Amino acid sequence: MSRFLNTKYADLEAYTPGEQPRDKQYIKLNTNESPYPPSPQVLAALTGQDLEDLRLYSDPEGTALREKLAALYGCQPGNVFLSNGSDDILNFAFMAFAQDGAVFPGLTYSFYPVFADLHKVPYATVPLKEDFTVDVEGLCGTGKFTVLANPNAPTGIALPLSEVEKILASNPDRVVVIDEAYVDFGGESAAGLIDQYDNLLVVMTYSKSRSMAGARLGFALASRPIIQDLEKIKYSTNPYNVNRLTLKLGEAAVDSDAYFRDNAKKIMATREKTTKALRALGFTLPDSKSNFLFVKKEGLDGGLLYQKLKDRGILIRHFSDPRIAQYNRVTVGTDEEMEAFLEAVKAVMAEEGLA
Ligand code: PMP
Repeated sequence: MSRFLNTKYADLEAYTPGEQPRDKQYIKLNTNESPYPPSPQVLAALTGQDLEDLRLYSDPEGTALREKLAALYGCQPGNVFLSNGSDDILNFAFMAFAQDGAVFPGLTYSFYPVFADLHKVPYATVPLKEDFTVDVEGLCGTGKFTVLANPNAPTGIALPLSEVEKILASNPDRVVVIDEAYVDFGGESAAGLIDQYDNLLVVMTYSKSRSMAGARLGFALASRPIIQDLEKIKYSTNPYNVNRLTLKLGEAAVDSDAYFRDNAKKIMATREKTTKALRALGFTLPDSKSNFLFVKKEGLDGGLLYQKLKDRGILIRHFSDPRIAQYNRVTVGTDEEMEAFLEAVKAVMAEEGLA
């Protein structure tokens, strides 16, 4: 820390992104990226002219992409907000709507408490139930800005839309964020509810199902006044928050929507196969509606499994939080990658005398 840092940030504990190692080629199952490339239309979208046009600023309103996303989700362009990855929207939402405090599940995306701390928002957490499902009653009627990842991370468990509605209806005077980063892998989206609930802010990303984590593109759907509030924050921080190339790639992805939905189906099929295989090996894991699995094996230390797989060239995500230190989060890759993962797990189990 320099002696220049604003004292209000002195104690801030920053978010730790998953490893992006460069030391060797890993089978990378640690950051919930897609194992498949973006659609052929996305790969062909950029021309030499687009590169020349980099001298020009991007359209700060992202007009063309907002029109396409609005048509896709059955709303108006004024109900769509674009951002540099969905973390950007979450940040803006904490900045804009959380002055009376925030609430979110006790085990969820670990960035939420960081945003809260960054903006000096006091927050409460509602512990998950014993089976790792979200305690819906505990999130109802809090009178606070609420953030719910659905499906949740790192558990992968999805709430039915009827449960999400209970939270929305119980808290009409505060914004409720439904973070749908993983919704395309079998969850139910709240996107169709934005006309019904003016406090609903649905946050989505191109990083997972659309295979475009590196493009940094997120979007939100909400009632027009909420979008206007986010626009106010954006125009007060970084008006050109989505670059020209990413806007164009984002449009091509909407034009080839069926491609990524097929990939999501493939990933879901691989997920189900891997779930069965892991359970047969004695692992416990909740039913996932996301592109990752949250896995534990009695008698096999979570940190040890992480390290031994890393030594074998397979990277999974281990969390230091003592409540989940026995677990690992494993992104669903291709069938071949998951077979390699399972073989490596068996080898580690044999080494540890567990096979
Ligand atoms: N929400 C959740 C639940 C996530 O896991 C992630 C990915 N780390 C994000 C939001 C942010 O994704 P991105 O900024 O790449 O859109």
